[in-house]
Amino acid sequence: MKILFYDTKSYDKDSFQQVLKNYPQVTIEYTKSDLDPRTAALAEGFDAVCAFVSSDVGTQTVEILHQKNIRLLLMRCAGFNNVDLESAAKYGIRVMRVPGYSPEAVAEHAMALALASNRRLHKAYNKVRENDFSLSGLMGFNFYQKTAGIVGTGQIGAAMCRICRGFGMKVIAYDVYQNPSLKDFVEYVPLEKLLADSDVISLHCPLMDSTYHMINLDTIRQMKDGVVLVNTSRGALVKTDDLIEGIRMHKFAGVGLDVYEEETDNVFEDRSDEILEHSTTARLLSFPNVMITSHQGFFTREALEAIAVTTLQNALDWMEGKSSRNDVKQ
Ligand code: NAD
Repeated sequence: MKILFYDTKSYDKDSFQQVLKNYPQVTIEYTKSDLDPRTAALAEGFDAVCAFVSSDVGTQTVEILHQKNIRLLLMRCAGFNNVDLESAAKYGIRVMRVPGYSPEAVAEHAMALALASNRRLHKAYNKVRENDFSLSGLMGFNFYQKTAGIVGTGQIGAAMCRICRGFGMKVIAYDVYQNPSLKDFVEYVPLEKLLADSDVISLHCPLMDSTYHMINLDTIRQMKDGVVLVNTSRGALVKTDDLIEGIRMHKFAGVGLDVYEEETDNVFEDRSDEILEHSTTARLLSFPNVMITSHQGFFTREALEAIAVTTLQNALDWMEGKSSRNDVKQ
């Protein structure tokens, strides 16, 4: 089978080429272009396309893929909120994903953001480089014996719960389902209680209609003063304008974001001053207690290898007509 691999970065190609040796039935052609309505027609002559979180797999893209006889969409990521599943189902395009390539990779990054924003490591690094060894503006608080509130306890949220327990924190969680593997040390509570009781809040639920802008002025007001908020899940879980208002109200000791609402607009790839001036992400960066990274939670050697293995196994399952737990329900 032939796969067109969109939005290729050199590290993607390296990890997939390494694993491809074990899949002689599969060939991959790589393009740097990301998948969107303008580039979907490149898929002519391929059986499948491989896309990522940044891809636009909305209605128009899916229609073009269908016209080009694409039968399989391989998402090399966990999330699929950027895919029009209804249209894919209508045209018989199977959608498969990589649900848990390395939950620890993302959870460890979430904790890194919580610690870095709390202890102002980003600020401390710059101060010391400029020969300023004073501690002003760097005070944080201990995580030990504080309460971590984990929203969403699937694979990544569960890994984050284990990390927080390792720090000696009390761990409470909110989810629509309870994860039985956490029953010994995690107490499930309603969202309102989690917001009110947590010293560190970390978001690990998917972006859906029910979770869109779940962190807004109303929910921010319910949080403790001096809370640390971390989002490594999807940008639109947080209403950015309201977050900025919350930061101005001095609600947060620290905010760590690996994802943000403007991500898909490639705001920082097109660095025109006008765009930056009006960007809410740029406004967020102006606060000293905010640390932003560029959707790098997944970016470890182990995770990249696992993504390649699972994506190629998904391709094989499709070729052999096997159903898979990696099928996205359409
Ligand atoms: P998962 O499917 O294993 O877990 C998601 C959990 O969220 C489930 O337990 C589900 O019941 C829960 N949930 C659903 N609706 C909810 C709601 N309304 N309130 C609270 N919880 C709810 O997914 P995962 O592998 O743990 O990934 C979580 C998210 O992390 C993904 O959806 C993706 O957006 C994000 N992610 C980010 C990166 C990164 O690099 N930053 C990498 C991978 C995944």
